[in-house]
Amino acid sequence: MKMDTIRNFSIIAHIDHGKSTLADRMIQLCNLVTEREFKDQILDNMDIERERGITIKSQTICLPYTAKDGTTYSLNLVDTPGHVDFSYEVSRALASCEGALLIVDAAQGVEAQTLANLYLAMENDLVVIPVINKIDLPSAEPERVSLQIEEDLGLDAELIRRCSAKNGTGVAEILEAIVEHLPPPQGDPAKPLQARIFDATYDSYRGTVISCRIINGSVKPGDQIIFMSTGAVHRVEEVGLFRLKKEPSKYLSAGQVGYILAGIKSVGDAKPGDTITLKDAPCSSPLSGFREVLPVVFSSLYPIAADDYEDLASALEKLQLNDAALSFQKDSSAALGFGFRCGFLGLLHLEVVQERLEREFDISLILTVPSVRYRFMLTDDSELMVDNPAHFPDPSKISLIEEPYIRASILIPERYMGVVMTLCMERRGENTKYHYPTPGRIEFTCELPLAEVIYDFYDRLKSITQGYGSFDYEMLEYRPSDLVKLDILVNGEVVDALSQLVHRSNARARGLGACEQLKEEIPRQLFKIAIQAAIGNNIIARTNVSALRKDVTAKCYGGDITRKRKLLEKQKAGKKRMKTVGNVDIPQSAFLAVLKRD
Ligand code: GDP
Ligand code: MG
Repeated sequence: MKMDTIRNFSIIAHIDHGKSTLADRMIQLCNLVTEREFKDQILDNMDIERERGITIKSQTICLPYTAKDGTTYSLNLVDTPGHVDFSYEVSRALASCEGALLIVDAAQGVEAQTLANLYLAMENDLVVIPVINKIDLPSAEPERVSLQIEEDLGLDAELIRRCSAKNGTGVAEILEAIVEHLPPPQGDPAKPLQARIFDATYDSYRGTVISCRIINGSVKPGDQIIFMSTGAVHRVEEVGLFRLKKEPSKYLSAGQVGYILAGIKSVGDAKPGDTITLKDAPCSSPLSGFREVLPVVFSSLYPIAADDYEDLASALEKLQLNDAALSFQKDSSAALGFGFRCGFLGLLHLEVVQERLEREFDISLILTVPSVRYRFMLTDDSELMVDNPAHFPDPSKISLIEEPYIRASILIPERYMGVVMTLCMERRGENTKYHYPTPGRIEFTCELPLAEVIYDFYDRLKSITQGYGSFDYEMLEYRPSDLVKLDILVNGEVVDALSQLVHRSNARARGLGACEQLKEEIPRQLFKIAIQAAIGNNIIARTNVSALRKDVTAKCYGGDITRKRKLLEKQKAGKKRMKTVGNVDIPQSAFLAVLKRD
C-alpha cells in the first residue's frame, strides 16, 4: 500500500450540524453501497443512535476514491460523536488521523462544541478543512459563518468548502479537498510493527475486533502479536479494512487504519491507547497512549430480577470493551440486593448505558440517584472520597466537605439571556460573565457545582432556549460545600437505594419532590403507607398513600368484564417489576421517577 494514496481523517462538529449525513453522502459518492443497501445514517448502527439521531461510538470506514488526477485513494473516515459526554471518543479518533473536516451549520454558526472539537484537533496537530453545511436552508448565512470561521476560529478562509449534505451539493469538492490539502500519513513499513488500538468491539462469534492505526511496520494473519501494556501474546487470525462490513486483506501496513482479529476472548486485553507489536520483532517503545478518562457521575445499577445479576455482570464487561469510560464495581443494597456501582462521564452517558443494557442484553434495571464524587476531611485529619450515599461518614466526624465545580460555557442567541441567567442562579451558579462573540449571540460563562449540572441541566437549557443553547464544560477545583445525606423512608424503613447526597439548601425541595413522586408511583395497598424524607433523625417532608379497598375492580362501573380482566392483568404484570421493601411493594417506575427531577 503506497502511503501517499492514503488519507486518514475525521469529521468533527457540534451535535446536529450534519456529520453523519455528510458521511452518508461520501459513502454514496465512493460507490460503496448500492441504492438498495443504503439507509440513512449508515454509520450509526446502534438502535439508540438511530432513534436519538446522535452518534455515540466512533465508526470507521475505508472509502476508495478516484480523484480528478486519476489516482485511486484510500480515504479512512472516522465518524465521531458530537456530545460533550463523549469527547473522549473524539480525541481517540483524532489521534489516528492527519486531518479533520470541521462542519459548521450554515444557519447556526460556530457553537461551543465546534470550538471544543477544534481544540482537540489542534492538540493532535491535524490539518483542518472547515466545511459550511446546510447551505440549502433558507436561513443559511454562509457569508456570516465564513467570517466567523475566519475571525473567531482563526482558520484559513481559502480552505473553506460549502455544501449541503442533504442534497449532495458540494460534497465532491470536499473529497477533492481532502486529497489535495490533507497530508498522507508518515511512518515506515520496514520498521518493527507499532500499531495503536483506538477502539475495540465485541463480536460474539469472532471475539474482540480491534480497530487500530498502523504507525510503523505491518501485520498479517499468522503473526504473533504482543499487547505492550500487558505483555499478552495472541496469534492474528485475520486483518482487514472497514468497508460497510469487515473486508479481509492480506496485511495491514504503515499508514493504514483497519481491524485485527486474534481470537481474543478476555475483554481486558485490548485497551484503547495500547500499542501492539510483533513478538518476534518487537519495537523498542510503546506509542504515547490516550489521556485517561475519569468518570464524574456515579450511580448503582440493580437488576430487577435478582437472578439477572450474573447476566448484568457479563453485560457490563462487554459494554466496557466498547466503552473505555465505563467503570464499575460490586455494590449491594438492603432494598435491592446485589448490583454494581458504575462511573459515567455524564448523564447522557449513563442513559445510554442503561438503554443498551435493557435493549441489547434484555436486563431490566433500577438505578439509584446519580451522584458526583465528594471529598470529606475528617476530624482525624484523614481524607475520604465518597460517591455513594451508603458511604456517607458519621456526621460528627466530618470537619469539611468539598464538591467538584465546573466552568460552564453556554452559547445562546441574545434573547435567551434572562432565562439562562435564572437557570444558572437556581443551580447555585457563581461568577457569571458574558461577552458577544458575534452580534446577536452571547457567550456565557458561569461556575457551577457539577452536582447541579448532572441532573437535567442540559435538557433544561435546551428547552428554555428552544434548542438554541449549546453547552460545554471544563472541570475546576473542589470547593467547600454544605452537604447532607437525604434519606427516604417507606413505612418507617429507609430505602437505601433512594438515599442521595444533596446540598442543604436543596434538601427540603428534593425530599418533598421525592415523596410526591413516590406517592404517584406506589400503588395503593391494603394498608396506609407513610412516605417520609429525613436528614438523620430529622423528618423534613412527608406524605401518605392511602389504603385500598380490597377489590381492585370495585371502582369499575357496570359489568364490563374485559375491562376488569385488563386491570387484573395489568396488576399482575406490574408486580413482576416490583421490589418489596419491608411490607411495601415499590415498582421500578418509582425508583426511576425519583431519579428524574421534575
Ligand atoms: P450529526 O449530529 O452532526 O451527526 O448530524 P446529522 O447528520 O445527524 O444531522 C442532523 C440533522 O440535520 C438531521 O435532521 C439532518 O437531516 C439535517 N441535515 C444534515 N445535513 C443537512 C443539510 O445539508 N441540509 C439540511 N437542510 N439539513 C441537513
Ligand atoms: Mg451523527
